[in-house]
Amino acid sequence: MKHFSLSKAVFMAASLALLGLTVANAQEKFSPVIVIHGGTSGLDLTKEEFKIREEPMKKALLAGQAVLEKGGSAMDAVTAAIMVLEDDPNFNAGKGAVFTSDGFNELDASIMDGSTKKAGAVAMARHIKNPILGARLVMDKTWHTLVAGEGADKLAKENGLEMVDQKYFFTQFRYDALQKAKEKQKLLLDSEKAKKTSLNLHERPYLGTVGAIALDKNGNLAAATSTGGMTNKMTGRIGDSPIIGSGTYADNDSVAVSCTGTGDIYMRV
Ligand code: ASP
Repeated sequence: MKHFSLSKAVFMAASLALLGLTVANAQEKFSPVIVIHGGTSGLDLTKEEFKIREEPMKKALLAGQAVLEKGGSAMDAVTAAIMVLEDDPNFNAGKGAVFTSDGFNELDASIMDGSTKKAGAVAMARHIKNPILGARLVMDKTWHTLVAGEGADKLAKENGLEMVDQKYFFTQFRYDALQKAKEKQKLLLDSEKAKKTSLNLHERPYLGTVGAIALDKNGNLAAATSTGGMTNKMTGRIGDSPIIGSGTYADNDSVAVSCTGTGDIYMRV
């Protein structure tokens, strides 16, 4: 059993971090592997900020690893790892998600099974405690790939997922980050300089998106990503994370990938 604790490497990633696992030959015997990330924008993490995220990263790796050790699937392993991070307030996914410009938490998540190339995603979900389970529901229970907004919440509720009020997602540091981003935006928009720097309006806008990729003993790959998006994003904005082929992708014949960074830029390519 191998696992890579990429927390340091990932926190140090620049504007786009992309984790990939490749499978050369589906006939080989496979040693299960799980890899996780806790988002980009980490170059400026203080030691303390790093430390409080290190433990949950380990816990998430162990949760995924436990599934693989019991002979479980890559899909179940990435789901287990992501759920740990969604439940931890220090990550921008589930509890701890960033705020939209209107003060909502709108969650995006996706998952892809490399053995069947089936996938599911939710976007702009406001009440699903673990959005990654919503993404799996879309894959398992509907003939769609992406369900957004009220539809995503409705599907989750009807299928018995744990639903929460918006206040469940509240964290003071994300709320403060929204206020700072708004102040900065106002300041910049008042100046000539702002016209030329439209992309740098946010205060550490995307720290803490989470992702996982895994390879199971049968040689099957899976990938999953979950995020609150970017601080001060427009209400209704959807990023790369719930877009299959952009934020998340898995195919046994090639690669499993979970991305983090400014989705508005790289989802175009
Ligand atoms: N890619 C995410 C988004 O644009 C944010 C992130 O990865 O931090 O919504």
